[in-house]
Parts: sequence; structure tokens; C-alpha cells
Amino acid sequence: MKIAFASSEVFPYVKTGGLGDVAGSLPIELSKLGHEVKVFLPKYNVFGEEEHGLHYQWDIGEIQIRIAGLVRSVHVHAATLPNSNVHVYFVDCPHYFHRFRVYTNDLDEDERFLFYSKGIIEILQRLAWAPDIIHCNDWQTGVLPLLLKENYGWDKLFEKTATVFSIHNIAYQGIFSKSAFEKVEIKPEHFRPGGIGEYYGGVNFLKTGILTADMINTVSETYAQELLTEEYGAGMQNFLEIRKKDFLGILNGIDYNLWNPETDKFIPYKYSANDLSGKFKNKRFLLEHLGLPFNENIPLVGIVSRLVDQKGFDLFSYGLNRLMDLPVQWVMLGAGEYRYETMFGELAHQYPEKVSSYLGFNNELSHLIEAGADIFVMPSRFEPCGLNQIYSLRYGTVPVVRKTGGLADTVQDWKDSISRSDETGNGFSFEEYTSESFVRALQNAIYEFHNKKVWQKIQVNGMNKDLSWAKSAGKYVSLYEKAVSKMKKEK
Ligand code: ADP
Repeated sequence: MKIAFASSEVFPYVKTGGLGDVAGSLPIELSKLGHEVKVFLPKYNVFGEEEHGLHYQWDIGEIQIRIAGLVRSVHVHAATLPNSNVHVYFVDCPHYFHRFRVYTNDLDEDERFLFYSKGIIEILQRLAWAPDIIHCNDWQTGVLPLLLKENYGWDKLFEKTATVFSIHNIAYQGIFSKSAFEKVEIKPEHFRPGGIGEYYGGVNFLKTGILTADMINTVSETYAQELLTEEYGAGMQNFLEIRKKDFLGILNGIDYNLWNPETDKFIPYKYSANDLSGKFKNKRFLLEHLGLPFNENIPLVGIVSRLVDQKGFDLFSYGLNRLMDLPVQWVMLGAGEYRYETMFGELAHQYPEKVSSYLGFNNELSHLIEAGADIFVMPSRFEPCGLNQIYSLRYGTVPVVRKTGGLADTVQDWKDSISRSDETGNGFSFEEYTSESFVRALQNAIYEFHNKKVWQKIQVNGMNKDLSWAKSAGKYVSLYEKAVSKMKKEK
């Protein structure tokens, strides 16, 4: 199959969260399965062109794109995803993408990503490359399926092109005033009350993607179920209900070339499930570098996260005293909301022997934490898939998570597995969204940490779980096949 993969972030060029990881690895897995994949990304000014081997595409040249009553030029650069033959095309328009940030609160945020979406379609035209699938991801490309079907419906090149829309996080929907649709000449019926894109008098890019793509998915089975409910659906549940038979969950995998304790270039001591001694050395290395005292009997608890409500940091602030009384050390890496950055910054000052916090984005440190920590916490309010708990499982760093979304699909509670007498648990989880339940789950983990035999069993259970992309990539291929055959039937 020919697959055009549209994502507003792609690792290693640019990543603000899990979407970047997915877009950097799923296309490579698909190409390993024999498919031809081209990835499309805006050319932001946040990554080095030379460092990543970008080349200007002279044969494509300048493309003129109409938007908001003006004509703007696009130039195209291309590079190859590391260790693959997957080409990435960069949609270059400094007016929109040279803002030193990937996402902004600027007044033309809608226009930036509509322009990117149109850019993808027009580059495909220039390449005269007719994909079987355009795989759109999150609200930034939510309007692309509609544009393709209607505004570019005249182009025979796309006669057989089906669309897939993946929801990586329902909390971000791309809600704007209806002028957004006018800017790209979408028919007024789509933003009038009851229209495909209309939402409380404005327009909603995510809703548009849900109602117009041939197939839709999200990034775990549990989250797919949750999204159909009022509690988790964030206003989209009724639209997803309409599309229920075309909607499913596919768990993200992880890239073993990047996240593997046997080969990870960022960790000084490599280790495996057969020999965990390197993990212990990484812990000492990490603590020394963070300036915290090392004591092998005190568990080190890691956090790597965007510091936003979704991730459960309000549980953290409510339960702060009890959490700080626990006999553990903490290493925290995160950036986000001011109140949480302040909280973590202050904790490090208040407990210099116990807490180290790094406020910012640091890929290398995130690998070191995964390798050096004993326990990893993710008390999320909701979690579409979550990657850090999967990295943790891979690194023998026992996750303590809230049982929701992808966390519920990847972490099996040790105590539950004991009551079933199968000892398959690979972490600890809690259901009720309260700081009491969170602290209790963490206490359970701390208790077992001191029972070395049990602890190692839990670690190895996680490390031996198949978390690679191989399984999930196959599921994406079936999703694409369904989209193609559905489109054929409709024609
Ligand atoms: P989300 O997409 O909601 O942020 P995920 O767990 O799916 O959550 O993915 C987060 C990704 O971003 C992981 O690869 C994680 O390691 C990385 N990450 C998050 N915050 C930071 C940070 N401050 N520094 C380095 N990496 C981070």
C-alpha cells in the first residue's frame, strides 16, 4: 500500500509528546512490512536542517496555496527517517512555521494547520503520487479528509485515496470561529448549525475528522471504550457513537531501536532481563549526577511528564504530605503548567536529600530516569495510551499507574495477579481517582520493593512483555484495508 502519514510532530525532528514518538516509529514499521510510506511535517524553526539532513526539493519547486484570501508560497524539503527508507517531506512556509514553537496561541493557529493540510495535498499533486491512504493524526489534520473529499474532489489522482484519522488525545480539539472554514473555502453548510464541523457556533477540527475520515481509531482499546462515555468523551462521545462501527483502539508500540536497556546510547550501563546488575549502577550514576545520596534500600521513584492536569498532578498536590513522608527518593522531569512547575521546584528545595526536579524538556535525562529509577508513577486522570509506562516496563522500572486508558491495557496489578495465583503482574494500579488510592498503590509497590525475589519477578514480567510496534503496525494495516474497502463500497 501507499501511505501518506500526516503528523504535526515527528521524532527526531520535533516532539512535544507521544504523537512525536508514534509518528517517528510507526511509518518505519509499516515500511518494514513492505508498504511505501511518505511522512509530512511542517518545517518549524525548532530543529537543525543540517543536523537532520534536509534537502531542498528543486524538482517540486514553489507551490502557491490559496488561504484566507491570499496566495502564499510553499517550498518543500525532504529527509529520510533514521535507519529507514521512509521519506519525510517538510512543508516550508516561514510565515506560519517560524515561530520558535510547535503550537501557539496566536490568532492564526487554525490557519497554520489548515495551510499545512492543504500543503500536504498539493505536494502529493506535485509528486503525482496517489496514496491508498492518508493517515491523519489529531486536530491539526482533522480537516484534511473533508478538504480532500470536497475541495480537491475534482482531482482524479485521489479517486482511490481513503482517509484514516487517529485520535491521540481527545482533550485537544482545535476549536475556532467559523471563519477558519471560510479561510479554506469549505462549504457553508458544514459550519452551519448541525453541520459536520460546526461546534457551539464555531468549528471543531477534531469533530470534523471524526465525521469525515473513512476509518477512525485511538491509541488503546480501553481509551476507545472510554471515549464513548460522557465522562471521557469531552463532548465528542455522540459523534463517536455515530461512527462506532468504524472506530477502534490500537495500542501504541515502542521503538526498540531507541528504547532498549540493552543498547540505549544514553545510559552508561546496559542491562537486560537476564542480568539486571546494570540497572543498579545506572541508579547510582543518576543519583550522583542529581546530587542525591545513594542508598540501595531506598526506592527511587521517577516521573517524566508534561505537567498538566491530565497527568494526575492534582492528586499529587492534595496528597503531598503523605507522599513526601514515604520512604522513597524522587526524580522528576517535566514542563508545563506554572503551578506544577512551582510545586516540583519547591519540593526540591524543601527536600534536598529526597527530591530532584528538572523543569524543562530533556530527552537524555528521560532515558536515564527510565533506566535508573526503581518505580515510575503515572496517576493520570485519563491516558489515551501513555508511553512512559511502556518504556518503564521495558526498563524494569515498575510502574504505579491509575487504571485508565492505555495504562489499564499495559500495566497488570501485581496484587490482582497474586489473588488469581498466576503471578503475571508487572506493576501496581489503582482505580479511584483520589490521592488516598494513589498513595496506597505506591505503598504496595514500596512494600514489594523490599522483597527482592518478588520485585525481580515483577520487573522481569514487564521486561519480557512484547511491547514492540510489530503487533500494532499489523493492526494499522488492517485498519487501512478496511478504510480502502469501505471507500470502494461507497463509490
Ligand atoms: P503525552 O503524549 O500525553 O505527553 P505520552 O506518555 O504518550 O504522553 O508521551 C510522552 C512522551 O514525551 C514520552 O516519550 C516522554 O518520554 C516524553 N516527555 C514528556 N515530557 C518530557 C520531558 N520533560 N523531557 C523529555 N521527554 C519528555
